[in-house]
Amino acid sequence: MGDASKLYGFDYWKGIIDSIGKFETTGGQRAPYKPLLLLWLIGRAANGKGGVVSFREAQAELRSLLSTHRVSKTEPRPQFPFVYLGTTPKIWSVRDRAGNDIAKMSQPLNKTKSQPAREDVTFLKAEATGMLAPRFVTALGEPELRDAIVNELLNAEFPESQHQSILAKVDLLWHVRLASPRRDPNFRESVLRAYEFCCSFCDFSARLRDQLVGLEAAHVRMHAKDGPSTLSNGISLCTQHHRLFDAGALGLAVVRGERKILVSQHLQAGMGGGDLVSLSGQKMRLPQIGYEPPAVEHVEWHYKNLFAQPERQLV
Ligand SMILES: [Zn+2]
Repeated sequence: MGDASKLYGFDYWKGIIDSIGKFETTGGQRAPYKPLLLLWLIGRAANGKGGVVSFREAQAELRSLLSTHRVSKTEPRPQFPFVYLGTTPKIWSVRDRAGNDIAKMSQPLNKTKSQPAREDVTFLKAEATGMLAPRFVTALGEPELRDAIVNELLNAEFPESQHQSILAKVDLLWHVRLASPRRDPNFRESVLRAYEFCCSFCDFSARLRDQLVGLEAAHVRMHAKDGPSTLSNGISLCTQHHRLFDAGALGLAVVRGERKILVSQHLQAGMGGGDLVSLSGQKMRLPQIGYEPPAVEHVEWHYKNLFAQPERQLV
């Protein structure tokens, strides 16, 4: 490796990715849209589509990708990450046909509108083209470095059970090696024991020759988002309910001191999915006496940051 690759190695890019911001809204809510855009762009580059894309070309695909991971009740708008990632020119910049930096346009296009030009979809569709920084494209050309960058984005922003499906969506599944997860064996053991080795949503429990199968300890607040590996932030879930909980299809609420299961209105349960919908409003299984249920603050964090709101009405 030459000097350039030492200088612009993983630490350099990690520093820039960290500086993109905490990926949160002003209200402090998790907003994983810039990281998703970046993963989508890395996917394009990995599949030979280069580092340049117009907003017109990106809009529909991006909207669908962001929508799958939306957290608030409002539909995410692709123009925001597309333009505002441009405030990190070491990775991405967006320009109009004349070459002006769109992220810096603060004036409305005409007097009838109050929004700045950079947020005007009609303008962006006609004019805006984004470009990955050439040095970043070079970095992505080194498979090990690209894998490290992709894993960094995934670990920082998404629950582990979602990593594979995100890679599939951005066409990176066959390009990137997922890093092996950092598991805390004490967390798993203490959570499963507290819940008597049963799923706290459906009571599922199974052993194969004394080996526990299909049961996992789930973090309520994401580990990467300051969620502690303690019982107050853990629930025992079967593999299926763990995935659905991390994806935001299922959630929790504390109603008059009781922990009730929420089911997202966006969840479309197909054949055999009736059981899933009927979880709505049911009390979750509590840990055995002497152990605490998930803390209200972590339950609320999950609702605000991961759950696909709104929930089905509780009966
Ligand atoms: Zn279950």
